Amino acid sequence: MYFSQKRLRQIFARTSGYCHLCHAKLDFSSYGELGVNGSWEVEHSTPQAKGGTHHLNNLYPACISCNRAKGDSSTRSARAKYGKTRAPLSLKKRRRAKIVYGTKGAFLGSVMTLLMSVDLSGSLVVVGFVIGYVQNPDKRS
Ligand SMILES: [Zn+2]
Repeated sequence: MYFSQKRLRQIFARTSGYCHLCHAKLDFSSYGELGVNGSWEVEHSTPQAKGGTHHLNNLYPACISCNRAKGDSSTRSARAKYGKTRAPLSLKKRRRAKIVYGTKGAFLGSVMTLLMSVDLSGSLVVVGFVIGYVQNPDKRS
């Protein structure tokens, strides 16, 4: 199966460049290079043998070893081997999730300010946002 550079970029971006099965960091330039660190392939989430299509929503980047080990088994069971239930987030979703966690943290910070009834207002909101923001959104999967 041939994929254009543009298509490969789109597939790679779906998980921010992480294997969708084991969440290892992949190297875009090592596409298809067997035995190279960060090398990857395009993985069909629903295998072609089971009617999976070449549409973007069925394609994910995966380590070559993960892809070949998965074979015709389901994405769910392949991810379960690594204790994962979801693919890593795309850059877009990652940014959005960070803002959500940051906002939750800021809210927590303002509640803490009220509870302590000390005039630290502002600083704890910032601390809360930072705590929420620095969380890895993938830890929640
Ligand atoms: Zn992998």
